[in-house]
Amino acid sequence: MPSFIYRCTDCRREFARADVRYLCPDCGASYRPGIPLKGVLEAVFDVDSIRPKFDRARPDWNLLCAVEPEFFPPLIVGRTPLVSARRLGEELGVPKLHLKNDGQNPSGSLKDRASFLVTAEALRLKEQRVVCASTGNAASALAAVCASAGVEALIFVPEKAPRAKLVQMVLSGARVVPVRGTYDDAFKLSLEFTAKRSGLNRNTAYHPLTIEGKKTVSLEIAEQLTPDAVFVSAGDGVILAGVHKGFSDLLRLGVIDKLPKLFAIQAEKSDAIHRYVETGTYSDAADPKTIADSISVTCPSNAHWARRAVLESKGATLTVTDEEILDAQARLAAKTGVFTEPAGAAAFAGLVKLQASSRALPKDATVVVIATGHGLKDIDAPLARVRIPAAIDPVLEAVTIA
Ligand SMILES: *Cc1c(COP(=O)(O)O)cnc(C)c1O
Ligand SMILES: [Zn+2]
Repeated sequence: MPSFIYRCTDCRREFARADVRYLCPDCGASYRPGIPLKGVLEAVFDVDSIRPKFDRARPDWNLLCAVEPEFFPPLIVGRTPLVSARRLGEELGVPKLHLKNDGQNPSGSLKDRASFLVTAEALRLKEQRVVCASTGNAASALAAVCASAGVEALIFVPEKAPRAKLVQMVLSGARVVPVRGTYDDAFKLSLEFTAKRSGLNRNTAYHPLTIEGKKTVSLEIAEQLTPDAVFVSAGDGVILAGVHKGFSDLLRLGVIDKLPKLFAIQAEKSDAIHRYVETGTYSDAADPKTIADSISVTCPSNAHWARRAVLESKGATLTVTDEEILDAQARLAAKTGVFTEPAGAAAFAGLVKLQASSRALPKDATVVVIATGHGLKDIDAPLARVRIPAAIDPVLEAVTIA
């Protein structure tokens, strides 16, 4: 049995694992779709009992895992490469720059980590169906992991999700329900479905194990280096919370002695978390239009934890324009070989912006940028900027290259 309890991030009340499923029963009761989630649960591990079993040289991360390994689906998720990007880092004044390439997950995004753990939980609870609302990646991740586990994925997606992501879900055998409306509309509908019909809900932050799944990215980073700063793009703020939770667990365990500064990057028009951190007052992003579909959110479900992650780690939030995102995507691809989707590139665009400002990180800082999704997920986004050369006759004289 994993040794953890759930604690409400609002009222701090504690619950046994068997007594809760989604939100804190008290604080969650006042939640209504359309505001950031209330009563998000945090898994609190008994680090005192884990410490004697933990070997830093050969860490067993299952000690910090909220679901028993016997329920893990067969698909291998995570363990993605941490790529050194020294030359690119030198251009930005931070030679110790690394990219955590989570596009190399089975379905091509970091979302596989959350889907993996929630699906393991579904197997533990003998649930035959896992339900989620998603702009694409959470859904394609869930579809892939459910295919591997042999349970049904039921997915509510906004009509406008990128085609590659829709193809992924459908081919993996998920039941896909496109919803006329936004991601936020799909989110509401999926909550109603699991409340009144059936299935385990995998909605981001609503199921506490989405955060636990995503935290594994931090555990893996910490296995290789101790970052001073981590850059992550934020839509709902759940990857950010997961990154924060992972480093917080390591801090409590005594593996690290301080949190890395967490930098949350949002698109200029999908900036609810940014404004919340800057002003202390929450309000929706009224018109969250951005080329980075994965971080396009009106009302970030995990806004409260996201704000805490930034403040506690003494990081910051930044916003970037679509232009800056596409520049960052091209620069990353050309200088490192890592082709990440616009939402992944947004995190790097944030680093570029920070380094051009008066708050630039010092030269000796160890920096990790999380490339959250694969570039092939959405080739329409950069297509307009790509000039594909015209064909020539297959004769050497036609080749103009010396
Ligand atoms: C979901 C996603 C994000 C943002 O994660 P949130 O938890 O919504 O903040 C960033 N990049 C990619 C590729 C994603 O799929
Ligand atoms: Zn509570």
